[in-house]
Amino acid sequence: MNYYSVLGLDKSASPDDIKKAYRKLALQHHPDQNKDNPHSETKFKEISEAYSVLSDPTKRSQYDQFGRVGGQSPINWNTNSPFDDLVNDFFRGFSYKQRGPQVGGNVEVRISLTLEEVATGVTKEFKFHRLTFCTDCNGRGGETTPCRGCHGSGRIRHAIFEMNCNYCGGSGAQLASHCSACRGQGTREEERTITINFPHGIRDKDVLRVPGEGSQNKPDMVRGHLHCHVSVQNHKVFSREGDNLSCKKTVSYVDACLGTTLKIVSLLGEKLEIELKPGSQHGQVLRVPNKGISDGDLFVKIEIAIPKHVTAKEKKLLEQIRGLKS
Ligand SMILES: [Zn+2]
Ligand SMILES: [Zn+2]
Repeated sequence: MNYYSVLGLDKSASPDDIKKAYRKLALQHHPDQNKDNPHSETKFKEISEAYSVLSDPTKRSQYDQFGRVGGQSPINWNTNSPFDDLVNDFFRGFSYKQRGPQVGGNVEVRISLTLEEVATGVTKEFKFHRLTFCTDCNGRGGETTPCRGCHGSGRIRHAIFEMNCNYCGGSGAQLASHCSACRGQGTREEERTITINFPHGIRDKDVLRVPGEGSQNKPDMVRGHLHCHVSVQNHKVFSREGDNLSCKKTVSYVDACLGTTLKIVSLLGEKLEIELKPGSQHGQVLRVPNKGISDGDLFVKIEIAIPKHVTAKEKKLLEQIRGLKS
């Protein structure tokens, strides 16, 4: 291994060049950032080793003269090295995993509600699928043996810090034979029935979070959450804006001229009588308090129908009206 080429430098590199190159490459190849790449750990070790030699003037001159540094490996991977602080500075905050119990995945379900159900609130029972650890293998996926990479500890100790073993993902175990019940997955899909109360006034795209009803992939894992994504169906008569409802009511031009009592059926089937004043105009909006959703109101938009055809008798009467006007 050529320490200079590992860091992408040549022999003339200044101590500052070395430091910069190391920080850049160490970040790039940090195994925690490259979980899918099994070579990242090797690469990371090479970079760290190159830096430990080239950043030390004595070791560097020894290396420049003899092409190697005395002793076997310039880094003892089991002890802290003098450049701990340098690395910890910029890995702090994201290279250390949060301890505490692992949480299983959240399950997302879509629940469709009618506008009537939204107006009253509704309790619904429904089924959904989530993952549960296989009880045959206790979530391990089969018979396991201690991981060869970390000898079962799940952690790899570097000169600079300790991290999860790349080979077993921190479990310390590797699969020796696959569980037949779950085909080595360690989990199975479970159907769960749940009853949820959707409060009145709930909105489209609201998400109801039910803690502890999500997936649990391993026995020592805390269950994730169930997220109910609410989708409110369109209504053929009423449209909704916040807690208010609106609808249209067609009236004849005669009713609009003379006034009348309009009969309207509310969202929840209540028969309403609304006063239409004489001389009401097309597009005029009548407000009916507290007939919306929750404390919302109902707005009735008046549409005046002009007949396309009139009977001979109607025509005669209309002509008389015209005569009166002129
Ligand atoms: Zn391991
Ligand atoms: Zn199993």
